[in-house]
Amino acid sequence: MSMSDIQSDLSLFNELVEVLLNEEQKHPVAERIEAKKLYDVMDLSLNNEPMVDDAFKNTLKDVLVATPKTATNLFFNQLFGGRQGKAILGDLLAVMLNNSMYTYKVAGPQVGIEQEIIRKSCDLVGYGPQSNGTFPTGGSMSNYMALVMARDAKDPNCRLDGMTKPLIVYTSKLSHYSNSKNTSFAGIGRNNIRYIEADSKGRMNPEKLEEQIKEDLHDGFIPTYVNATAGTTVLGAFDPIDKIADITEKYNIWLHVDGAYSGSVIFSKKYKHLVNGIERSNSFSYNAHKMLGTPLTCSVILVNNKRHLHESFSNKADYLYQTDGDDFNLGKTSFQCGRRNDALKFWTLWKSVGTIGLESIVDHQFDLADVAREYIKSNDDYTLYSFDESISVCFNYKNIDPKKLCTALYKAQETVVGFGSFNGTTFIRFVTINANNSPEDIINFFDVLEKFVAENPSLKKIGEEVEEGV
Ligand SMILES: *Cc1c(COP(=O)(O)O)cnc(C)c1O
Repeated sequence: MSMSDIQSDLSLFNELVEVLLNEEQKHPVAERIEAKKLYDVMDLSLNNEPMVDDAFKNTLKDVLVATPKTATNLFFNQLFGGRQGKAILGDLLAVMLNNSMYTYKVAGPQVGIEQEIIRKSCDLVGYGPQSNGTFPTGGSMSNYMALVMARDAKDPNCRLDGMTKPLIVYTSKLSHYSNSKNTSFAGIGRNNIRYIEADSKGRMNPEKLEEQIKEDLHDGFIPTYVNATAGTTVLGAFDPIDKIADITEKYNIWLHVDGAYSGSVIFSKKYKHLVNGIERSNSFSYNAHKMLGTPLTCSVILVNNKRHLHESFSNKADYLYQTDGDDFNLGKTSFQCGRRNDALKFWTLWKSVGTIGLESIVDHQFDLADVAREYIKSNDDYTLYSFDESISVCFNYKNIDPKKLCTALYKAQETVVGFGSFNGTTFIRFVTINANNSPEDIINFFDVLEKFVAENPSLKKIGEEVEEGV
């Protein structure tokens, strides 16, 4: 590949980005292609002969235009959204550099960049000098790494002989589904999770946790791992870490805090109290690609004592580790071998806006959630099901079936939003995670929804017989 080839590809990139940004202005919600018709509507085929120039460019344009738009002011479906320009810049540079993060020999200063993020994050959490961390592939993998460390800490021999002891895992009923998968991957088994009840606001009930632990001890089981959640996936609730830490310390159980969704409150003076006690945990993870708005994926796991990372994840490999020592060879503490540079995009963002800039991103999301809750509370057509100090705002409108309404809004290209349930009630889950949005964008969402409902009187109320194809 010559230099001019890459330059012409990059100018094509700029041209395509221009197309995309214009398209997002005109159509914030992409036209939906019926999944069954996808291959008929678009030419995605791979052929024997090369596709060149204009045809190639036009195909790329078609794909861009048809792809769901997650950065616009009408996307509220998942726990990410919007764009942070400086983070995108960093990610594009990471692609150009194409390092792998396993050794200093191959990643050089990128190792220092990753370690600086980890160091600063550990300081914010309040972990001591023995702490460290790594960048796993996502929040699910972060939870998995924490579980493996907990397992190995409780039963070091299982690294050699496999599982021989009845280890038990505890998490709230409202925690992320990765907890369930991870127990199976870790050899503990899905039947050995105890799902602890939550209180009326969706937070793990510590009394129930202790009761269950006592019962398990009495029955000869070995309590090994408690997963607490900072921002549950549906309600955005925060488990009471301090009270849970009292229990995990008393019974010598690993405490992991899954902050994939809302763990970034560590950056906010105003909201950090939601994770009070976090410095007492053994591990903590957060996704910068959720609240902080970096491109997917950017997950960080921090470990109170880095010894556990080494004990569970290092392996001798003479063909790989040839220079510079363990502190700079990050492959000694990661799950995989080759590892993408997810740190640079976070660093370019952090460096450019400062810690106070990250704080204002987080605070702004809570402000937007307040705007949404106020709007809902002041309008009798709405019922609110979620609580203050969360960026998930859960509601129903005019008692309309939320599943039908979300699907109809999506099919009509009005706005993309999802639904969830708590205590047997299903509702729309609106997330204010896109920090590019203004209060007007939030009110606009409600306008879009209300107008749509007014124009579609056939939308069914909850409990009414449902027709297909609304
Ligand atoms: C999103 C989320 C995860 C999973 O993170 P991925 O990066 O999607 O794997 C785990 N826990 C919680 C609470 C989440 O919200």
